[in-house]
Amino acid sequence: MDKKILEKIKETLEKEKTSTEAQLLEFAKKDVKLKGDWDTKFPEMDTLMGSASDEALEDKAKRIEEYEKLLPVEYALEKKLQSIDLALEKLGKGKYGICEKCGKKIPEERLEVCPEARICMKCQES
Ligand SMILES: [Zn+2]
Repeated sequence: MDKKILEKIKETLEKEKTSTEAQLLEFAKKDVKLKGDWDTKFPEMDTLMGSASDEALEDKAKRIEEYEKLLPVEYALEKKLQSIDLALEKLGKGKYGICEKCGKKIPEERLEVCPEARICMKCQES
């Protein structure tokens, strides 16, 4: 693959990594024990303990609802981040752009649109 294209892809990946991490940090925190894992912050309930007013209960329910909505978002971003890291690692090793399923080269056009792609279009469709 052309060195210039690789440089450009690396740059894109690094930018994506920074922005994905920033998105995650808004509502999740890095798992210190498990590398590459993130946890959505669970709503703080301490302040609501012992308070049984309707308002408090409603607020509590709302926070849990928000939390549940964020979980799939967190999961998707986490997966994306892992793919980005993997792509960067492959770039460093000179193994970037090879389909993980069929072992063929992933077309540059695809990589330019989706630099963290791990498999080619054909394999993704099948
Ligand atoms: Zn393939």
